[in-house]
Amino acid sequence: MTREEWRRDAVFVAGRWQPTYEGRTLGVENPATEEIVGSSAEAGRGEVDDAVAAAAAAFPGWAGLPVGDRGTVLRRWLGELRSRRELLVETTIAEVGAPRKVAEESHVDTGLAVLEGYLAAAGSVPWEERVANSLVLREPIGVVGCITPWNYPLYQVLAKVGGALVAGCTVVLKPAELTPLSAYLLADAAAAAGLPAGVFNLVPGAGRVVGEALVAHPGVDMVSFTGSTGVGARVSTLAAPTVKRVALELGGKSASVVLPDADLPAAVEGTVAAAMLNSGQTCSAWSRLLVPADRLDEAVASAAAAAERLVVGDPEATDTLIGPVVSAAQRETVLGFVRRAVEQGAVVAAGGPDRPVGLDRGHYVAPTVVTAVRPDAEIVREEVFGPVLTVQAYRDEDDGLAMANAPDYGLSGAVWSGSEEAALAFARGMRTGQVDVNGAAFNPTAPFGGYRRSGNGRELGKWGIEEFLETKSVQR
Ligand code: NAD
Repeated sequence: MTREEWRRDAVFVAGRWQPTYEGRTLGVENPATEEIVGSSAEAGRGEVDDAVAAAAAAFPGWAGLPVGDRGTVLRRWLGELRSRRELLVETTIAEVGAPRKVAEESHVDTGLAVLEGYLAAAGSVPWEERVANSLVLREPIGVVGCITPWNYPLYQVLAKVGGALVAGCTVVLKPAELTPLSAYLLADAAAAAGLPAGVFNLVPGAGRVVGEALVAHPGVDMVSFTGSTGVGARVSTLAAPTVKRVALELGGKSASVVLPDADLPAAVEGTVAAAMLNSGQTCSAWSRLLVPADRLDEAVASAAAAAERLVVGDPEATDTLIGPVVSAAQRETVLGFVRRAVEQGAVVAAGGPDRPVGLDRGHYVAPTVVTAVRPDAEIVREEVFGPVLTVQAYRDEDDGLAMANAPDYGLSGAVWSGSEEAALAFARGMRTGQVDVNGAAFNPTAPFGGYRRSGNGRELGKWGIEEFLETKSVQR
């Protein structure tokens, strides 16, 4: 199935849909059917120059509006997005391969909640403060280049563009090549809501071309990047000559640690569900389960059983919990990790490299549980970004904490315990930007971001607005 709204070839610059200079487009594949269901423009450097010029021209007017007036315009944008909810859901199913329930809840509703959270948080930003004889002013940083990944395309865009626009910045967005269609719908909604021309610009295209042009551009004051750690490091290098601010939201290798007094079956069930959500293509996925040594066998058995219960298949079917991964290349990457782990002596307790039965088309990977991994194995250090969970045993809590903190990443994590106090004490020791105790709910207004190689930025709530602000002291 395809739709009119998915066949696109223009860029959105200065409030208008404009053809590209070279007229090139990129196809968009449905990962479940392997059919090309849509297209986007493939922009180049010329379109980046035009978009940056439009954003710079729009900046004084947008930044000069009282924050409440910006909020009024952005609420209209939110309203236009809400009225397109079903189209956004269908688009997410088509371009990501997310099952309908996941597309509805984790992609679209959470994305809209993030924008709503920014609008609510605008009032708690200290826009002006007095310090002795100084007035400290928080002002928007300027033109922001936003670069986003394919795993939650709507959410990832709103997590940066929402904060930047509330802050008073203007934006040039380059979405991921694989999933540009949600970004097109955001631009449609921005046009319908009457966002002033140039405040939001959309320039889809290749990372190496459009992404790099945006990052190096002297007219861009800040880059906000979400993606892999390797590309994030390159973004920092390319941004350095212009000394622009760079906010990085990168990969993860998060641990779910079950303390000895926890309800182990509930902890394992919750961990498997979180690890496999969105086919494991979640930066904050708990991809490592750590359990007390004397409960390893029990934990492996229940994790394998929980993984096998997950219904894998057609994202449109109402009982499907796990869809395909996003592309053939991503499937090969994920299976490569599993094969190499097995070569190094790991044991597959559920799933594995074979196609799930009955799914001959589509980039499907069976929910996989791997155990007997070496502490320094690639599969416990590197981000797999697929439906793969490792299960490991720890000796005591100090050992568990050391294992949780061992990878270079520090994005997220979980701790499970019968005592909230004990869980909190353990959470304080985790070198990571987020920790959930006993499967607590995601909070779209709490700061989200990484320690160490998981990045240096914070998105969501007032922290995600402050990310885009400069600080000025005026002495009197
Ligand atoms: P990626 O790094 O390959 O691409 C991300 C974006 O960067 C895409 O838009 C891509 O076109 C662009 N890009 C690629 N090369 C570029 C270059 N040289 N210069 C500028 N831009 C370039 O990542 P991906 O495969 O799209 O996404 C998966 C990764 O994103 C995973 O590592 C995941 O953990 C991470 N991620 C992190 C968060 C977070 O909040 N920390 C959230 C989601 C995803």
